[in-house]
Amino acid sequence: MRRQPLQCPFCDNYLAPPIDLRIKSLEITGGICTCGAIYVLDRTGHNLGEIYLDALTFLCRGDIDKALSLTPGEYEEGTLDYDVHSNTISRREDRSVKGKVIFLRLKTK
Ligand SMILES: [Zn+2]
Repeated sequence: MRRQPLQCPFCDNYLAPPIDLRIKSLEITGGICTCGAIYVLDRTGHNLGEIYLDALTFLCRGDIDKALSLTPGEYEEGTLDYDVHSNTISRREDRSVKGKVIFLRLKTK
């Protein structure tokens, strides 16, 4: 399995490893791409529902009401398998990789 560095699926920019961030009451591990996309790490890959809501809230800069009112047509999403130790992604299912990174970006109207 060939691994790739962490890269934004929307603009192909190379990204820094996810870091702990705090926005209002939201605490996540992730980052922001220069294209406006945000990414959030799910260390275990088993928490995707919860992390997804956190990611949406992060996308709305901590505004959970706005996050809940977004419709899927208003943003783009992508999920990548992510290895925390090497900061690499794999686009296909890889059983040795436990973490996932969720990417979200608001569509420009
Ligand atoms: Zn990007």
